[in-house]
Amino acid sequence: MAATAKEKANVKVNGSDRSDFNGMMEVEYSYLFECLRKNKEDYIYLSDLINALEAVGIRENDPRLKLDPAELDIAPQVVLDYEKFKHILKHSFGGLIKDAIQGNLIIPDFASFCREITEIYELTNKNKNGNVATYIPQLGRVDPDKYAISICTVSGQQFSIGDSNEDFCIQSICKPINYCMVLEEHGEDIVHQHVGREPSGIGFNGLVLNENSLPHNPMINAGAIMTCSMVKPEMDMADRFEYVLNFWNKITGNQNSLGFNNSVYLSEKETADRNFALGYYMKEKGAFPENTNLLSTLEFYFQCCSIQTDTNAMAIAAATLANSGICPITNERAMENNTVKNCLSLMNSCGMYDFSGEFAFTIGLPAKSGVAGGLMLVIPNLMGIAIWSPKLDKSGNSVKGIEFSKELVKRYNFHIYDSLTLNNPDKKDPRLKRNEAKIDGAISLNWAASEGNLLEVQHIYARGIDINMADYDGRTALHLAASEGHEHIIAYLIDKGVNLNPRDRWGNTPLQDAYKGNHDATILLLEANHALK
Ligand code: GLU
Repeated sequence: MAATAKEKANVKVNGSDRSDFNGMMEVEYSYLFECLRKNKEDYIYLSDLINALEAVGIRENDPRLKLDPAELDIAPQVVLDYEKFKHILKHSFGGLIKDAIQGNLIIPDFASFCREITEIYELTNKNKNGNVATYIPQLGRVDPDKYAISICTVSGQQFSIGDSNEDFCIQSICKPINYCMVLEEHGEDIVHQHVGREPSGIGFNGLVLNENSLPHNPMINAGAIMTCSMVKPEMDMADRFEYVLNFWNKITGNQNSLGFNNSVYLSEKETADRNFALGYYMKEKGAFPENTNLLSTLEFYFQCCSIQTDTNAMAIAAATLANSGICPITNERAMENNTVKNCLSLMNSCGMYDFSGEFAFTIGLPAKSGVAGGLMLVIPNLMGIAIWSPKLDKSGNSVKGIEFSKELVKRYNFHIYDSLTLNNPDKKDPRLKRNEAKIDGAISLNWAASEGNLLEVQHIYARGIDINMADYDGRTALHLAASEGHEHIIAYLIDKGVNLNPRDRWGNTPLQDAYKGNHDATILLLEANHALK
């Protein structure tokens, strides 16, 4: 019989395990392969690899995986022998597959987290309050009951629920991104010679400037018109717009998910008296950079507001901000850390219209909303969230978006100052515990087995933990799974060659535990595999 991957891995090359450019060693590849192998075959199924990745939120079209699209179409039949599996691991982005299979992504138990998000979605979906914006007639025609949530973590784990594949207009959510673009282009000092960074205390389209005759900040209309005047002013209009789309493409992981809503654009332009007034007022005060063409600046601002996309893509953009400017699913840097820091600071203080102070206090996260019902929420170093639901409250924020945010920070310690009240038993932390690796392997394996958590058992197995390890009472994972009647765990452990008859300090075998618990199906399974009583 051919040597198993594990046996092959045990043959040391030149007396030592070789590690590749991902820092992975042969023995690690073999554990990952073993983890996915079934029935002692010499191969694994590509579909099992994809399922293992999807279980932790890594989508099969994640560009970092570099999976062959032709093979993906027929994935259930495609088999990977050890060498082919290794090839895929080596060519995917540094350690991604390893971290996914070992449960080392930023949210290790992604399935539980997504279940909770689904619960919050369903709860908040019951709230039918609010009204769709009508001041731009075209926006008033959208279905008011649409609701979508998408999440992307800084590890690139994605989850979506609801109408997440439907496009909506980004509207004011273009404001923070345009601000990032001009910071990258001109630097902070020049940009802030033309726009302030103080909340205005008045409505988003207020006809008022600060004491220096500048717009208060880039998150309100006057400030956004100002930043628009600074986006590649030397280019012609077509190239400027393309430049903006390219930037959005970069921060959304090059998924080509951006569009333009021409009807909204035309409708907005027809009803933009206030924005024209703001523009002329700033022109009269000499606020614009020299040689600014006011009419094309306004035109460009309306175009930016009329870009459309879905929550899937917007969550990736938010995650790029959460990840200090590096897009999590391409690993490409789209902007400098400092740009992100400045942008998030202003989103935190000015991103939610006249509810900004309240939002900073209760939710405690940088966010930006738009009148089409979009809301982009950033949890620094953890994830980006995009919400879309068109009904707005009196401040102009999505009703469901606000409700969702409130419920989220009620359950999780995501408010930026929750770090000061650590160990609050009412709030969960889904993040990877950095000291998890130090926890004794046997304890975590036994715990996962007793809980019936197969994914966690697989993750621990993939880390190379010995499945026969016992705790100080001689209890093994098999004992605990048998005591609780978790056949799926037992079947997995048997497939991995577990010792069927370990005895704990009281002399009990797993089969005896199954009898004690009256778990008939477990008894049958163990006896079919010749376990001893
Ligand atoms: N296009 C909108 C306006 O200037 C943007 C409004 C918004 O989303 O806040 O009126």
